[in-house]
Amino acid sequence: MAKVLTCGDLMPGCKAVIEGKDDAEVMARGVEHAKKAHGMATIPPDLANKVQAAIKEKK
Ligand SMILES: [Zn+2]
Repeated sequence: MAKVLTCGDLMPGCKAVIEGKDDAEVMARGVEHAKKAHGMATIPPDLANKVQAAIKEKK
């Protein structure tokens, strides 16, 4: 089952929707997106936990 992360759930106003084949792929793409779109050099552990919680099954 594909997974999807709606960045706006974490970063209000962001329209990005990140998809992947599993949690790990969505997480990796989310990290890349955070670096490029949100200027984050690193992802703090508390944010990583929020990202993990925000990943949903794609419907
Ligand atoms: Zn974003």
